[in-house]
Order: sequence, then structure tokens, then C-alpha cells
Amino acid sequence: MKPRNGWFYVNVTATMTAPLTAADRCDRCNAQAYVRVVLPAGELLFCAHHAREHAPKFAELATHVQDETDRLLAEHGAGAGAAS
Ligand SMILES: [Zn+2]
Repeated sequence: MKPRNGWFYVNVTATMTAPLTAADRCDRCNAQAYVRVVLPAGELLFCAHHAREHAPKFAELATHVQDETDRLLAEHGAGAGAAS
């Protein structure tokens, strides 16, 4: 069977734009992931802490970096009203 024209492009676009969810976990510490790093061989998920820690390494390898750390501030930052 032959792929339809454009199937590959559509598939890649869907992967790149899929938002990170609470089910996405940091590959290093299992905290909720807010950064997706797409590499030629696959992808890695990082929490904000590990994204910063590993940024120098993946910056030169990644084909795409999806940074949603601004959502971390929106959800858990000032104004969240959490007791501490
Ligand atoms: Zn982490």
C-alpha cells in the first residue's frame, strides 16, 4: 500500500504540536514534564529543573524543543493560593 501524499509531514506536525500533559513525566526524576526535546533518534521529556540542567547538552542535538515551562508558573506560581 502506498502512503498518501503528505502523510509523513502531517504525522510529524502532530507529534511536535501535541501539548504536554500531566501524564508526561521527566525522564530523569519522574516529575511532571514541561519540556519536550525532539532528537533525531527519538524524544526526551524533562521537568523544568532538568531541562535547565541538560540544556547545554541537548541544545546542539535537538531538532525541536517544546518549552512549556511558562505553564509551570501559571499553574504553580504566584497566585495559586496553595498553603505551604
Ligand atoms: Zn526532572
